[in-house]
Amino acid sequence: MNIALVAHDEKKDKLIEFIIAYKTILSKHDLFATGTTGLRIIDETGLDVTRFKSGPLGGDQEIGASIAQNRMDLIVFFRDPLTAQPHEPDVSALIRLADVYEVPLATNMGTAEVLLKGLEAGFFDWRLIRRNDE
Ligand code: PGA
Repeated sequence: MNIALVAHDEKKDKLIEFIIAYKTILSKHDLFATGTTGLRIIDETGLDVTRFKSGPLGGDQEIGASIAQNRMDLIVFFRDPLTAQPHEPDVSALIRLADVYEVPLATNMGTAEVLLKGLEAGFFDWRLIRRNDE
């Protein structure tokens, strides 16, 4: 599965903590991330990550485009709900496209844990069937 990982600056430590906790599951999949998030994941967890541009420079839109092309199967996006983001429209667009294409998306640790446990249990295998049908 293709998994996108993104965190706003105030949430990056939490995302790294989450990735380390679920490294065994995540290492079996293809990981993608926005620029700065991806750099931190590579440096601090040793996982392979394909990096898009930094979020404020278009990275969220690149992930949105991947969703529209049915190339993203699961998204973990730890948003910072307490800080105004200059690229808020891009964040909303990404989340909107996840809803349009019914891609599972978690915006906080609790939901992300459930999604990864579901992924491990095969709950999202329908994503592969859908991708192969296209
Ligand atoms: P970043 O982008 O990983 O480049 O910081 C994340 C975002 O703010 O959307």
